[in-house]
Amino acid sequence: MKNTLYFLQTIFLIAVISFTSQAHEQTATATYVGNEGVMISNGSSKIIFDPFFHNNYNTYQLVPEEIRNAIFNNKAPYDNIDAIFISHAHGDHFAADDMLKYLKANPQSKLVAPNQAVKRLAALENSASVMKQVTSIDLSFGDQPTTITIDDLLIEAVRIPHAGWPGRADISNLVFRVTLNDSVTIMHMGDADPNDTHFAPYKKHWQKTVTNTAFPPYWFFNSSDGPLILAERINAEESIGIHVPVKVPTTLKMTEEQYFSKPGEQKTITHKHK
Ligand SMILES: [Zn+2]
Repeated sequence: MKNTLYFLQTIFLIAVISFTSQAHEQTATATYVGNEGVMISNGSSKIIFDPFFHNNYNTYQLVPEEIRNAIFNNKAPYDNIDAIFISHAHGDHFAADDMLKYLKANPQSKLVAPNQAVKRLAALENSASVMKQVTSIDLSFGDQPTTITIDDLLIEAVRIPHAGWPGRADISNLVFRVTLNDSVTIMHMGDADPNDTHFAPYKKHWQKTVTNTAFPPYWFFNSSDGPLILAERINAEESIGIHVPVKVPTTLKMTEEQYFSKPGEQKTITHKHK
């Protein structure tokens, strides 16, 4: 009788442990802050993309003052950010002055950004002290993807041309794939041009890792190659559109795709393939 009881207790404990560890490892939360600003947190690591910018071109969603203040003052849920990622150095994605202010106030946080953004940061007065927190990604058009690790983050970046190609060919737009603590993998695509000729040469890179959730600019959903790039090419289980105008286009609503448009909005990222 006593043995049976121990046996049952053990089974119960194993079940509880495996259930909680699964729930812990295989999900993350995406929190929207504005335009292409998205924070990803899995309970162990916290990263944020494109959080600081001043320009909305009278079309896009600025980060509300309340959220900006919370980020700068290290207030939950925007506290203890491990790394900030910048997709490209355009005014609706990056502001060097805010970046400097944030890195100074949060010396534990790291920045990963294209060299074009890092140069602007480095050009600011008194920026020398934060450069040790910065990783500059220097990729030319056509280069192989690059891989770096920061603590428990596996970071891969590839340069994919900015939308409007071949215009704006000089801007370094990075598509980041980040795996947090060997569990959830997300992809932020910046302002990528939705043409498969840019993505096809990196077939091996996309196939190497399943992305649980990709964050493409919303124009992927309505372009000719975009839906196929998301469904097949980049090896992503689901996509959530970003860079959505404040006045949400009817064409986007009609796609029935997922998208972020309200700051503070959250979605759960699940690790479906395990
Ligand atoms: Zn943009």
